[in-house]
Amino acid sequence: MPDKKKEIQVFEDDDDMRVQVNSNGISLEKLENNFRSIIAEIGEDPGREGLIRTPGRVAKAYKFMTKGYSEDIEKLLNGAVFNEHYDEIVIVKDIDFYSLCEHHLLPFYGKCHIGYIPNGKIVGLSKLPRIVEMYSRRLQVQERMTREIGDMINKVLEPKGVAVVSEARHLCMMMRGVEKQNSIATTSCMLGRFKSDEKTRSEFLKLIGK
Ligand code: ZN
Repeated sequence: MPDKKKEIQVFEDDDDMRVQVNSNGISLEKLENNFRSIIAEIGEDPGREGLIRTPGRVAKAYKFMTKGYSEDIEKLLNGAVFNEHYDEIVIVKDIDFYSLCEHHLLPFYGKCHIGYIPNGKIVGLSKLPRIVEMYSRRLQVQERMTREIGDMINKVLEPKGVAVVSEARHLCMMMRGVEKQNSIATTSCMLGRFKSDEKTRSEFLKLIGK
């Protein structure tokens, strides 16, 4: 856990330009060169003062924003799955997430709400946002991200049911194309009892304020 934190800080540090390869083999140098070409191609001068270090910063920002690919679920959970007989709905709501739409490489961001009904196993509550990070820090579509979060919780906890609802604003809709400023896209993944039992599903939706 402390190791992971350290790794993230390295990625964020603007002055540490010389970390070339991260744990999933991304070459910062190659990324940096590619972003320099993009800057030149859109008609800017990558050599001017304000832009000279931009490709390196962007490379590191992208490495951070796609770090979900190198997350390992075993390490992430770090033994935080416990045997416990609790059979009411467990909910963690309003988990902030930031992702990148895979069609435009523009951000989509919002909140994710998770519920599950344990079947003998519970997970440390802070691990649920970590699973959201694992799947949001990638090139994504909101639908798939929501389902992947639900499927992973289902796999590690084998609960009686899992419910995931994500609400997001997409900059690709807001900044370009249809320019819909106030649209919020909602996606959901209902598994087990949340899928089969309407009452359980409504209880979850009520508890997250929907
Ligand atoms: Zn898009």
